[in-house]
This record gives sequence, C-alpha cells and structure tokens, in this order.
Amino acid sequence: MKKKINLYFMLIAAIAILSTLFLSLWVSYDMIKEQVMDEIRSYAFLLRDINANEKISWENFDSIHDELRITVVHEDGSVLYDNYADEAKMDNHADRKEIREALEYGEGAAIRTSDTLSESLFYFAVKMEDSSIVRVSKQASNAWGVLIRLIPIVLGIVILLLALCAMLAKFITNRLIAPVENVAGHMDHLEDVEVYEELRPFVAMIQKQHEDILKSATMRQEFTANVSHELKTPLTSISGYAELMENNLVDSEHVTGFAKAIHQNADRLLTLINDIIRLSELDAVTEKPEFEEIDIYGIVENCVQMLSLSAKNHNVKMILNGNSQMVYANKQMMEELVYNLCDNAIRYNRPDGVVEVNVYRGKRGVVLAVKDTGIGIPPEHQERIFERFYRVDKSRSKETGGTGLGLAIVKHIAVVHDAALELVSEPGVGTQIQVIFRN
Ligand code: ADP
Repeated sequence: MKKKINLYFMLIAAIAILSTLFLSLWVSYDMIKEQVMDEIRSYAFLLRDINANEKISWENFDSIHDELRITVVHEDGSVLYDNYADEAKMDNHADRKEIREALEYGEGAAIRTSDTLSESLFYFAVKMEDSSIVRVSKQASNAWGVLIRLIPIVLGIVILLLALCAMLAKFITNRLIAPVENVAGHMDHLEDVEVYEELRPFVAMIQKQHEDILKSATMRQEFTANVSHELKTPLTSISGYAELMENNLVDSEHVTGFAKAIHQNADRLLTLINDIIRLSELDAVTEKPEFEEIDIYGIVENCVQMLSLSAKNHNVKMILNGNSQMVYANKQMMEELVYNLCDNAIRYNRPDGVVEVNVYRGKRGVVLAVKDTGIGIPPEHQERIFERFYRVDKSRSKETGGTGLGLAIVKHIAVVHDAALELVSEPGVGTQIQVIFRN
C-alpha cells in the first residue's frame, strides 16, 4: 500500500512538473516571438519612413552583418538588394507569404522554421512609396531551440524537483499510513488509538472480530478442559472396577454388579462423545445446512413415540396437542431439537408428572412449546442452562444420563434457524421451553 501511494504521489508530481515545464516554455516562446516580430516590424517601418524622405543607398547595409537581414524586393518579385546574399542569384520572391501580403495590404509577416528545426526565421515586409518592398528578417531560436539549449538546466531542475517530491511523498505516505499501522499494532486496546474518521467503522468491525476470536479461543479452551474432565470421571470408574476384577478382589456374586457399573459408565462415555461430536459438527458447519419445508408436528409425533418407553419408566404421561405446521428447516436438526427438549422434560419431571407438547401457529410464527410439571429451574440458573456443560444439579443430570450438552445443542440449532428460544420455569411447579420459528 505504501509503495502504491508513493508511486501515485510521484506520478502526480512528475505530471505536474512536466506540464508546468512545457506550459511555461510555450508561453515564453510566444513572448519571444512577439518581441522579435515587434523589433523587426519597427525596423521595417523605420526603413520605409527614412526611405520616403531620402532614398536609402542599400549598399550601406552590406557591412551590417549582425542578426538583421535586409532584403529589398521589386514589386514584380525580383530581389533588388540583400545584405546577406548575392541578389542576382536569388529567385523571385513574389510568392513569399510576407511579400505577397505587403504587396496587397502594405505589410506582411511570416515565420518559417529553418532546416535544423531548432531555429525559426522571422520576416516582416513593408511596402515603400515606390511600391518596392523592404523586408527585415531575423533568426531566433524556436521552442525546440530554447528547450534544447535549456536541457541541462531543465534536467537538473526536474531531477531536483523529483527528488524533493520523492522525499516529500515518502514523508507524507508515512504520516498517512501511521494511524493505520498503529491500529494493527494495538489490537488489544483500540479505544486509546487515534483513528481516521473514515476508518472508524472498519476498525470497529476489526475490533469486534478480534474480540470474537479471543472469546471463542477462551471458550474453546474452557470446552476442552470441560470435555477432558467429563471424560475422566467415567473412565476412572471403569478402570477402577476393571482393576478390582482383574486382581480377583470381587466376589463372584458382585461381578455382575461391577460389570453393570462398567457398562453404565461406558454408555455414559458413548453418549458424551456423541454429544461432543455433534456440537463440534454444528460448530464446524460454515455453509448453510440443507433446509426444506417440514411438518414440525410430524416430527414431534415420532419423537413422542420414540420416548414413550422412557416416559413410562419415569412414570410420566406425554400429551401432544396441535396440528400440522410447516416450517423451513433442517430435518435432522429439528429431530434433535425436539428430542432434547422432550427428553429433558421427562428426565427432570416428577413421578406421575405430565409432559405437554403444543404445536401451533402463533402471532410471531410457528410455536413448538414443551411444558413439564417437573422440578423447575431456579431463576438464578435460568440464564445459564443453555451453556455447554452447565447443569443445575449435576448428580441428577448424570443419574438420568445427561451430559450437560443437550440444551447447548438446542440453542445452536435455534440460532441456525433464526428461531427464538423462550424459557418460563418455576422451581417445584414446572418448566416450559418455547421455540418460535419467526414468520
Ligand atoms: P443435561 O444433559 O444435563 O440434561 P441439558 O443441556 O439438556 O443437559 O440441560 C442443562 C441443565 O438444565 C440440566 O442439567 C438441568 O439442570 C436443566 N434443565 C434442562 N431441562 C430442564 C427441565 N425441563 N426442567 C428442569 N431442569 C432442566
């Protein structure tokens, strides 16, 4: 970026310098031209006036061999006198522009470029009383000539100016970029860094992203620590029981019980790992999962069917109300969401309790409400139960095969579907969790 800005600065400087150079050259050349013309015109008129008073003997000009050339031309175009050349050898001048004009209008001017191109010849012709023409001419450098003569000086100045511009460009670029570099160097406390007004939204966005990255890194770290801890407990039990059996320290009548404990802990490990894998899958998905129009009521019906045995074991009655409601969603995710909510409503219920699932179209959209008559959630925990591994009563969760990840998965799925999650709960009375698929 610095290089680019520098380059643009230099480009602008070069264009400015060169255009100024050519413009001033052109203007000064114009001025020179006018001056030379003025000079030879005055001279020509002077000669005419003198000649009117008293005939000039032109031979007197033979010795004048400085810049001015004087030519006298007869009205028929033949050259009568020239102080630079032998008039006898000169061809007819009637067709020269300045002579033609002088013959017709009394005076005429012309500028012709010499063969070398770097010089121009200026002519001014005036008609005298006897109708012959006196022409004064002078050689002078033209624009090219001026430029060629000035080349060393001009080049020197241009190089000097460009060097100066390069230095200035570098200085300005550094000053321009400094605040941007400052931002990059002070990501952690951008509030104290001075930023360009125009860059503020950009910096705010970067800052937010930076914070998000830090937050998610911390969360990942916490999650890993939690996972390790959660995996360690059942594995330690399994290892302990197995070791006892290995060393024949378990009576034969207790072997079955020990094997059952090992089995339960292994199952627990499997559930945990499944949930962890599912969460990391959900985390990893960057593109949108496949969505389709699905009947949420049908999914709840299947789920109630699937959980009927568990409900029976917990002595809980399941009621399903409502009717077919279509939502635009991912089918597998919906099944998981419904399952986790109903499973919790059974597991945290009381004996002879009820789980009531309602599916209907509300004002804000299709509503899935799972309501139980269970132990409820104390207000101080309600905010946090959707966090990974957060459990109100750890032992109850474990006893019933919970992992502390079910609601985290529910929340994740709700976010993917832009659905609202609402919780109403009272300890000892029951809990209702509503998922609202916004219109
Ligand atoms: P778990 O596997 O422990 O059930 P969840 O993420 O599903 O994990 O739930 C987190 C915690 O929220 C549970 O441990 C429990 O304390 C509480 N909870 C969830 N659902 C209910 C409910 N229907 N009634 C009472 N408490 C609940």
